[in-house]
Amino acid sequence: MSNNVEKNAAKRFYPIAAPDIGDLEAQYVTDAVRSGWVSSLGSYILEFERGFAEFCGSKYGIATSNGTTALHLALEALRLGPGDEVIVPSLTFVATANVVTYVGATPVFVDVEADTWCIDPLCVERALTPRTRAVIAVHLYGHPANMDALRAVIGTRDIALIEDAAEAHGARHRGHRVGSVGDIGVFSFYGNKIITTGEGGIILTEDARLAERCSFLRDHAMSPTRRYWHPEVGFNYRITNLQAALGLAQLRRIDELIAKRDRIGRWYRDMLATQADVAFNPQAPWASTVFWLACALLPERVDRTAVMQQLKAEGVDTRPFFVPMHRLPMYERARMVLRATGQPAVADALAEQGINLPTAPSLGQDDVAYITERLVAAISRARG
Ligand SMILES: *Cc1c(COP(=O)(O)O)cnc(C)c1O
Repeated sequence: MSNNVEKNAAKRFYPIAAPDIGDLEAQYVTDAVRSGWVSSLGSYILEFERGFAEFCGSKYGIATSNGTTALHLALEALRLGPGDEVIVPSLTFVATANVVTYVGATPVFVDVEADTWCIDPLCVERALTPRTRAVIAVHLYGHPANMDALRAVIGTRDIALIEDAAEAHGARHRGHRVGSVGDIGVFSFYGNKIITTGEGGIILTEDARLAERCSFLRDHAMSPTRRYWHPEVGFNYRITNLQAALGLAQLRRIDELIAKRDRIGRWYRDMLATQADVAFNPQAPWASTVFWLACALLPERVDRTAVMQQLKAEGVDTRPFFVPMHRLPMYERARMVLRATGQPAVADALAEQGINLPTAPSLGQDDVAYITERLVAAISRARG
């Protein structure tokens, strides 16, 4: 399949991300359209749910309309609400924090580790209170969070360990695929994620009752035995058969899609290796990462905005790292709950100097060479 990357040097443009859609995707989606099962019933949904759960080594999969609704549904299924606290890393995409707010619980933001960029178990330990009901570990930019250490910190307390694996399809934590390590795992299949359904998400769990509750709440909380009997307030968070058809084709190709990103990641890593003061995605010895996005930490005192503008002028699309949650206006109050954990200094430092680099699967080695060369030049220019 052709891609958006313009090879023509004059109008070279490297987008940060682009879906990799092939003939199989077209075939499955066409089949779904022709079958007439275009809405939220259809065989592609069950096959996609089963297939993705199996890929991750999990028992049940409940697909949803997007990753945010999957996260929200997970918290609803756990019956979290006002008075409950949920510990969340400050460096994440905003949806991780917002779903806590949706259920009326309080997000408690903690710092991340410098060597994984993921939630710091020691900070989680300091943030625990009798009100803590859940911890959401985010596998940021494709690197697994330290789940063993989080489990140890939680101990025998009645606290759910949730994985936000929206950026890490296929990554492994000590040999186990992420999404199947915690009590509940959640993924997104948005267009820029490792596999896509256009919009979509899924919840994975080993717990039959939790799985049942998720699919019940996903479909207006309608009684499975009595039509139009709704014992509580539910949601319409269903995925469509069309989306699942796209997803199933992507799932059939997932090893190829991950391998393409892995190659790109290794090219970047090798080419940036000579730049002593530019750090790349971390890699803990116990983790097998996936390259959702290649990242570069610019040296301190280098003006990130200037680097990004320069790269843009040269056809290289970049993004700044996420703004830490405790910096966002609606979570200003949550800042007061930072408590003993103190200011998330690592999250702040990463957020100030980090950029995401183009990681579209179609990139070739020469493309990565061009991007890296322009990046190095832009950094030295911004240094003055
Ligand atoms: C993309 C993403 C989400 C939300 O997924 P959507 O499908 O866009 O709703 C949640 N958490 C993280 C960490 C993400 O990157």
